[in-house]
Amino acid sequence: MKKDLVIIGGGPAGMSAAVAAYENGIRDILILERDEHLGGILQQCIHNGFGLHKFGEELTGPEYAWRYEKKIHELGISYQLNTMVLEITADKVITVSNEDGILQIHAKAIILAMGCRERAKGSLNIAGTRPAGIYSAGTAQKYVNSKGYLPGKEAVILGSGDIGLIMARRMTLEGAKVKAVCELMPYSGGLARNIQQCLVDYDIPLLLNHTVVEIHGRDRLTGVTIAKVDENRKPIEDSKQYISCDTLLLSVGLIPENELSKRAGVILDPVTNGVVVDEGRETNIEGIFACGNVRKVHELVDFVSQEAEIAGKSAAAYIQGVVKKEKVLLKTEKKVPNITPKKFTNTKHGKRELTCIVCPKSCMLEIELTNTGEVLTVSGNKCKRGAKYATDECTNPQRTITTTLRCEDGRMVAVKTDSTIPKDKVLEIMELINQTVVTLPVRVGDVLISGVFGSNVVATQNL
Ligand SMILES: Cc1cc2nc3c(=O)[nH]c(=O)nc-3n(C[C@H](O)[C@H](O)[C@H](O)COP(=O)(O)OP(=O)(O)OC[C@H]3O[C@@H](n4cnc5c(N)ncnc54)[C@H](O)[C@@H]3O)c2cc1C
Repeated sequence: MKKDLVIIGGGPAGMSAAVAAYENGIRDILILERDEHLGGILQQCIHNGFGLHKFGEELTGPEYAWRYEKKIHELGISYQLNTMVLEITADKVITVSNEDGILQIHAKAIILAMGCRERAKGSLNIAGTRPAGIYSAGTAQKYVNSKGYLPGKEAVILGSGDIGLIMARRMTLEGAKVKAVCELMPYSGGLARNIQQCLVDYDIPLLLNHTVVEIHGRDRLTGVTIAKVDENRKPIEDSKQYISCDTLLLSVGLIPENELSKRAGVILDPVTNGVVVDEGRETNIEGIFACGNVRKVHELVDFVSQEAEIAGKSAAAYIQGVVKKEKVLLKTEKKVPNITPKKFTNTKHGKRELTCIVCPKSCMLEIELTNTGEVLTVSGNKCKRGAKYATDECTNPQRTITTTLRCEDGRMVAVKTDSTIPKDKVLEIMELINQTVVTLPVRVGDVLISGVFGSNVVATQNL
């Protein structure tokens, strides 16, 4: 088979690159995706926090993916699901495997958009037994959000990047007790707003400068020993502490998924394993481009989409024979750590400090309150929404719930409340949601439960 442009990976990077290539004149495009749906990792990221830069709205992962899927359908861009790319060569021959067997595709240009994978337990040196109950946070996320299984009842999470923080809240909402989130570094790797809304909201302790040093249990995990670490990140012997738990979630980093790229001769950054590209996101091999988490792990999907637009446009220009001036490969950027927010004093009056959860900027807000708890001044906010959030948080805290509902055939569908609900009602509403069974089919935006504290529970996914 011959194609002008083949895109490997149907996540946000792959879909956005396809749309950009189409809009720049390329029609013969094929997206290859090994999973059973488009959308990539977004389909299991049912929480909100996506799309503020790109669409000026706060969307859930599946809603963000749907914006691009709709476009792919509208433009008639072809894609093949359940299709695994096994190999690519420097002369752009792609070998794929699917239910039809093994197939070769000759492409004029290729865009690599395979995303990233999680670092596994094997990359950590933890002593002890090897019982069941230890998962990477992303695997646990898939179990809970896509399959409807809760991996355990009492959990410890190692690593405070965004996936670990989000899973701490998700496990709590589904009825598990998260006993601690341990972080080796003196700061969290996650967004400050996620520390606020995922840990502080549910009184989950974040233990900085801590790690798991031993695993206990024979068949099933029974507990972990944690310890404080010194400035060289070595465990301090007399700080060891046993925590009983049946689940350990590991959220210890992501690595770009680059086995295919490596074998084709694409240059990778030896530290990050990301693909090295030029400004147009072309790799060292002419006609092979890369974007999204395969190039470098991005914090926000909005930036993935933006980068993929560049790759799509450049691939279109390459196919159309536009000659570029010169190729200068970019240096890999280093990630700047987030500053963990200060703990705020939970007083009714006087001063209060809060991390704003309205957007990823996570502004540190200072609020002055009267003796009766009314808000006098708010400072530290970079937008009006921050001031409103501060006032609401001090007087009538509100949250949007994002979760899943079980469908009549046993599958899970992602849902959210279509407006905020009182924060102290979140767990009550979760109980109601968990008793509901949904009739299929479901389309994004369908009201599945109405009149929940003035809000409706709506679908954020098609099923
Ligand atoms: C738990 C979690 C929480 C997050 N929270 C936020 C958030 O709140 N806000 C935000 O903006 N961003 C968030 N992100 C980041 C965002 O989801 C990612 O940046 C984005 O999904 C990356 O897009 P991608 O297309 O590069 O990769 P992916 O979404 O991983 O897509 C890659 C696709 O390639 C496919 N693929 C891989 N190899 C092959 C192969 N050999 N053959 C065929 N197909 C292949 C995969 O199946 C996958 O579908 C979060 C990420 C995670 C994991």
